[in-house]
Amino acid sequence: MSTSERSQQFEASIRDEAIHCDRLLGSWTGTNPGPTLIVICGVHGNERAGVHAAEEILNQLSSIAPDQGKGRVVVIAGNLAALAVPEGGVRYLDRDLNRIFSEAGIAQIRAASPADLDTEQREALELMQTLEAEIARASGLVYALDLHTVSAESPPFVFVEDSLPAREFVHPFGVPVILGFEEELHGLLIDHLTNGYGVTAAILEAGHHDDEGSQHFMAAAIQRAITYAGILSDDLLAESIASDEEQTQGYGQGRAGHIYDVRHRDPITSPDYAVEADLQPFDHLRRDHTVVAREKGRVSVAPMTGLLFMPNRQEEKRPGDDGYFIVQRVNRTWLMISAGLRRFTLLHWLLPKLAPGVRHDPTHAGRLLVDVRYAPVFKRELFHLFGYRIHSRGPDLHWPWWRRIWTGAIGIAAAILGILLGIFKGGEKGVLREPSEHDWVISRRTLDTADRPNARQ
Ligand SMILES: [Zn+2]
Repeated sequence: MSTSERSQQFEASIRDEAIHCDRLLGSWTGTNPGPTLIVICGVHGNERAGVHAAEEILNQLSSIAPDQGKGRVVVIAGNLAALAVPEGGVRYLDRDLNRIFSEAGIAQIRAASPADLDTEQREALELMQTLEAEIARASGLVYALDLHTVSAESPPFVFVEDSLPAREFVHPFGVPVILGFEEELHGLLIDHLTNGYGVTAAILEAGHHDDEGSQHFMAAAIQRAITYAGILSDDLLAESIASDEEQTQGYGQGRAGHIYDVRHRDPITSPDYAVEADLQPFDHLRRDHTVVAREKGRVSVAPMTGLLFMPNRQEEKRPGDDGYFIVQRVNRTWLMISAGLRRFTLLHWLLPKLAPGVRHDPTHAGRLLVDVRYAPVFKRELFHLFGYRIHSRGPDLHWPWWRRIWTGAIGIAAAILGILLGIFKGGEKGVLREPSEHDWVISRRTLDTADRPNARQ
């Protein structure tokens, strides 16, 4: 839907208001124990459609008796301070709330005295306390939906960390699924929920901030999540938007169920940053050819072939924010092979024993270090295939294939020589390199491992 087609009335209503709300917007609790669905809205204060969609669902749930389902649905608001700013709120006041939840960011908030925290750090602390209380009272699996909208005209899509439970959870939404976002952006709330508590979590990007369709899609997706989790049956939500198949077909815009991997992020470095006006989300970009954005002293040409994703159309461009991303389609066969390999426990046991340059991280249980010399051979796609998340890696090289192979071959030759020298010296101790800041750090996906705190029974 274009800007001109949007309901003027809806746009006016969503723009004018300041939203003053409690952290806990509402809940529905079944008589019997069961799964919990946590819906989070307004993590960015100018993204109001999520708040309205969640309220719409709470309203529907209020007429359903507790003995008609099991478990719990709870709606939690994210950035109360940013939502309360008049004339449509602001994305954030001091810093982006959805970039705070890294291990270091959380540790900093917990160690500081409340008077030293900035606006979003205080929001994050309170939000974490509320979420922890919900997770602690949960009697079954916990799912979370973090509701967002975007600044550009865009079809809806979802982000998940690529685990098998998360892939399954978002399938019913019928929209494109984007993987690998957590490797580009640190401190996402869903990342903390998944890796801190074993919650199956997804970010829903429902479309443009002011598009009435965004709210509609989010309401439908919440209903589908409730049904998928097994909290309420489909017929109880019979009036639901989710049952409208035609509408659902429309959400995916021909890309329903397609899976994409984030391959590149272009950061904003100057306030005059502008993505080319004629480019739309999912437009095809050609490597070294398509001019994607311009800013003072720099023209950003696509460093790889792929599709344009989340071009920043915010009025105010803040250095450090995301300019645009490039995604590439992941094919179905790859996903099926990947699902099989993830369940192949022997592989995960063998990897640090047999693969050259791969060893356990002495400082962090469950993580592996990959010698940087072999990284060009392994590439991120290969680790993703095996179900590994890359926590840190060297800069994106965007090398041609022959250069990767060449560099990798030299690395492997050096390793074999090292091993021979090691044997000659009477032991392998001196062969494996000490951990270095250049190593890639990888680990299996929390939700794919059987011992996740919240594992499927
Ligand atoms: Zn957002």
